[in-house]
Amino acid sequence: MVYNPLMKLWTSMMSGVCAAGTGSFLDSVANKLGVKVEEVSDKVNYGSDTEFSSVCAVLSATSINKFKNRVPIGDLLAGACKAQARTILNSVGQLLLNAPGRKILFQGGVAFNKAVAFFLGKLTGSEIIIPQYHEVMGALGAAVIAKQLDELGPDVELAKVEYEPTRGKSVLLRIKATKHDFFSKDTSKPLVWRNLFFPTEILNAFDCRIRTLETYAALFARKADFVKEALGNAAQKGYDQQTCSFLRMLEGMKLEKPDFVVSTSQPCQQAERVFEDLVNEYDCPDRLYSLQTPIKRQSAHAVEMMAEGLSEAIFLMEKSFGRKLELGRLEEACVLSNEAAALGRKCNELRWTSPPLVKGSEAIYNAVVFSQLWGTKDLVDIQQAYYEELLQKKEWAEKRYSIDDTHRLLWLHLPPFYDTKHLTYLESVCNAPIIFEETNFIGWSPLDPKDPLRSLATKLLESGFLDPALRVEYVKKAIPAAKFNGVVLYTHGFGRCSLADRSLSKLLRNELDKMGVPLLALEGDCMDASIDPCSTITKIASFTEALNMKRYGNIFGRVGKR
Ligand code: SF4
Repeated sequence: MVYNPLMKLWTSMMSGVCAAGTGSFLDSVANKLGVKVEEVSDKVNYGSDTEFSSVCAVLSATSINKFKNRVPIGDLLAGACKAQARTILNSVGQLLLNAPGRKILFQGGVAFNKAVAFFLGKLTGSEIIIPQYHEVMGALGAAVIAKQLDELGPDVELAKVEYEPTRGKSVLLRIKATKHDFFSKDTSKPLVWRNLFFPTEILNAFDCRIRTLETYAALFARKADFVKEALGNAAQKGYDQQTCSFLRMLEGMKLEKPDFVVSTSQPCQQAERVFEDLVNEYDCPDRLYSLQTPIKRQSAHAVEMMAEGLSEAIFLMEKSFGRKLELGRLEEACVLSNEAAALGRKCNELRWTSPPLVKGSEAIYNAVVFSQLWGTKDLVDIQQAYYEELLQKKEWAEKRYSIDDTHRLLWLHLPPFYDTKHLTYLESVCNAPIIFEETNFIGWSPLDPKDPLRSLATKLLESGFLDPALRVEYVKKAIPAAKFNGVVLYTHGFGRCSLADRSLSKLLRNELDKMGVPLLALEGDCMDASIDPCSTITKIASFTEALNMKRYGNIFGRVGKR
């Protein structure tokens, strides 16, 4: 935990993926070496240069055991304590990014071990302070919280955030479109596999059946047995948890053979490799086209190069489908895309400038930026219906709340698809509404129907997902515009996903620190519930308690009277 004076709140970061870095590591090492854990720091050779891996508590303890008869016990214990200190920093050190040389309070049971404190001090360059009652600080803290709750009085009631209850027409239209799109068996139309980023306006102008593979995989996320089986099949093909779970699903499930496949070289190399593997497996290696996409929109000729690439993709699809693309249809698709985008921006403007209108734990699955309906009348109808619903919800909400009454969170990247328990906990239990989601952000300029390929190339570059710096720019602009008081980044794949990797979270944390806006980076996986860290609920609770302390002067929330 670090107190951020600019934010006037405690920011925190917590490991939670495994036991590495916790007291159980030292317990198992001491046990293996036949030393009482409380005597470890007295036996450590503080000058030793012995080092041990700190990746896995169990394996490290086993590897230390191997050296038992060859390395002096003081050196082994020094190596273990150093590994402990290093693991602590590897898992939560990010938070010290902007706090070099600050005094650090070291508490809890492990703080009994003066050697770990010594090596923590060496690694951080900070003074490590061990408070008098370090081993019971948590218990003391719980007592203080109970006292604070008692001081709020006997008839205290925490105000809940409520939403206008009607389930609008737009939800039904989305479900109908999704069913039609992903499960239609109309084989009279060519089937095109696509990644999340290749422009759908072209494919809809071609009147194809589109299968956005990552979205298609996500549609099965709530079928736990199906997911387990698919991930199991993928593992047998050599795709373990190092590979994105969306891609493992695609490797593990049966797909309909495509007539053509389109993707983009950025932002995900993993996806490129798996798409390549899948077209070989489905015996259509000559039907894959990957649009070369630079990251930076400013890079010279970026738009020209991509427009040429789109033209080449169209040529190859015409050859594969045996028919020409009607330019009039592409023009029309750009007009419809602009209409839907304009309505989408109005929807976002409403949500940014109103009290909570819809639950983010529902709206996040709209993910309009990744929709394969861009270029269709369906999306225009959905956005129109959604806009009208939001107007009604605004009227209802403004009778109950002002925009400053509640927390206002921005959710970045994708959510877990297998359930909404963490989003629901955040919104309904912690009363911290997700006001907006990055997957619904429409940041690109209107298309020019007379110059479709260049403007579709520009749309892709301006969508933000290719360039982490541009995404962070969009977040920085959105924060004052929508009064966001906190940002949540869901790091799908524990940082292995290029859309939520450590470079992005570092850049984001740096910029948000300067703005005084706290970031909650939630490790997790969008598809694979089996690798969900056990600490997510605690992280969410501590984040919202810090926000409550700042906004309402107590950690519990907005206090109402019974
Ligand atoms: S790693 Fe990230 S960007 Fe790549 S396919 Fe998975 S979710 Fe998409």
